[in-house]
Amino acid sequence: MTPPLHFRVGHGYDIHRIVVGRRLVLGGVWFDCGFGLEGHSDADALTHAVCDALLGAAGLPDIGHYFPNTDPAWQGADSQVLLRKVVRALHDGGWHPVNVDVTLIAEKPHIGPRIDEMKVALARTTGLSVDAIGIKATTNEGMDDIGRGHAIAAHAVCLIGK
Ligand code: MG
Repeated sequence: MTPPLHFRVGHGYDIHRIVVGRRLVLGGVWFDCGFGLEGHSDADALTHAVCDALLGAAGLPDIGHYFPNTDPAWQGADSQVLLRKVVRALHDGGWHPVNVDVTLIAEKPHIGPRIDEMKVALARTTGLSVDAIGIKATTNEGMDDIGRGHAIAAHAVCLIGK
């Protein structure tokens, strides 16, 4: 196979408030931890950051442009569906994801044991191999709103090629 001739990097960031009464989903994996994230869709901040990284790399508008939180169609939406549409938008422009690397910032729950499941879920959605997906989790050491357990945030970078 001829290697891609053009590469671009992208960066995405997302943050959602923690709320009681919703179930938490991160990277397409559900957690039973007694709280979830506030948002119009399923509020999967990790997946949203990946979407914005891919869109940014391709020079496309951000996730809010494609899936506005004013559109009832995306109420409670599975963010893996959104990510699949993002990858399709990249394909339309001749781009293919090469790799994705994510840092999740969450004081709770304990993310580490679920990272492999998230990689499998994101690989299934994006068409990437599992080893092309990096996910690390850290806390904010009790500082700021994330550190006090009021929110969960994610940073993502990616490479795309054509
Ligand atoms: Mg979001």
